[in-house]
Amino acid sequence: MEHDLISNPRDGREPVRDARVLQAMRCVPRHLFIPDSSEQDAYADVPQSIGHGQTISQPYIVALMTQLLNVQPGQKVLEIGTGSGYQTAILAQLTDQVYSVEIIAPLHEQARQRLQQLNCQHVHLRLGDGHQGWPEHAPYDAIIVTCAADPLPPPLWQQLKPSGRMVIPLGAAHSAQQLFVFEKDAHGNRRNRETIPVRFVPMTRDETSRE
Ligand code: SAH
Repeated sequence: MEHDLISNPRDGREPVRDARVLQAMRCVPRHLFIPDSSEQDAYADVPQSIGHGQTISQPYIVALMTQLLNVQPGQKVLEIGTGSGYQTAILAQLTDQVYSVEIIAPLHEQARQRLQQLNCQHVHLRLGDGHQGWPEHAPYDAIIVTCAADPLPPPLWQQLKPSGRMVIPLGAAHSAQQLFVFEKDAHGNRRNRETIPVRFVPMTRDETSRE
């Protein structure tokens, strides 16, 4: 894994220097989450296909989003878009309370098996539409969305704790998207920070996958 590229990027990108994030990136074997790729390709700083028209983000974006989320041990995190389970496994290195929702049944099932094999305890997965969040376990200290929403789904904002953070790409599918950090202050007010332009698969509404 090219951690130097993440902590000291040469192209002016925001560096990822959070030691816990870099350690998590070192610990999680990315190649096991991308079955169709060679071990070498899996660690290149590019997005990769995970089947069903979906992609796992490039390592830099996973690291940056995790740094922006700033999860502390013991905090409760919700992820929307389990996909391969890679980002989920990174989060599980940082806290013992990780909840993740995926809308495509085979991806949900593969991620479940993979995370079990890797002994990723404390990870809770659900098949469903992430637009609704996961109300039964709310509120969350942090929410990370790994597909592009347009606009921000209100239930996700409602399920964020006061003083909580959300990292989410916003924008239409296949057009300009921006990665946002939303912070909820103690009074429930929102502070927005726009970070970098990104390109994520869209957050879909698949009626057949709904619970
Ligand atoms: N975090 C993933 C990235 C997967 S790509 C990883 O590390 O591999 C984004 C994922 O979001 C896809 O698996 C896609 O199926 C899922 N997704 C899209 N719309 C969704 C929705 N409404 N609810 C939950 N998941 C959704």
